[in-house]
Amino acid sequence: MTTYIGHAAPKTLEGYECTKCHRFYQGESAEHVANYCCAEKAICDDCGQEFKKDHWCKTCHQKKQRAKYDKFKVVEWDGKAPLATWDDDKFFFDVDSLHDYIDECDCSIDDLMLVMCTPDMGPTVDADIFTDHMPEDWDEPKGWDEIREAMANLNKVIHSHGPHCWWADNVRPSVESVKRGTTYTKQEASQ
Ligand SMILES: [Zn+2]
Ligand SMILES: [Zn+2]
Repeated sequence: MTTYIGHAAPKTLEGYECTKCHRFYQGESAEHVANYCCAEKAICDDCGQEFKKDHWCKTCHQKKQRAKYDKFKVVEWDGKAPLATWDDDKFFFDVDSLHDYIDECDCSIDDLMLVMCTPDMGPTVDADIFTDHMPEDWDEPKGWDEIREAMANLNKVIHSHGPHCWWADNVRPSVESVKRGTTYTKQEASQ
């Protein structure tokens, strides 16, 4: 062996090892990343509850969702307008389907986080449909007056057949009005 006159000195590498798979991590968040590496569970920083890695704490998530929901504007439900569950988009178009769901999930009206729905009356056709069909220096398509009138008629027909679907809105029906609405309709049906 040859001995070199160089600059060697002993040095230990700073870092963290995942003791399960023996991957070595260096840098600012090395401890965090090495812990994450082969972890199966995590602990919620807020409530201390354990949950599966790459998921989130259900308890805290629900609390946050509830807090958001509680801030929505409250309106009185008329017993007829479609309702939806805010966090998982289940729609109820009549009182019976709402009753069935409450029975099925064994939960209260308050637990459901119901919201009002906005009707979608369908698309509105306008001059934009010509965007990719005209030279850049043209303002209006040929026969614009006739086309515009026809489009207005088409829009009228589309909207007259609406709602084509419903969207969950960030507006809460008051729990009392839902209770009142559901009992009222049930009584009415049994008469
Ligand atoms: Zn690992
Ligand atoms: Zn938590």
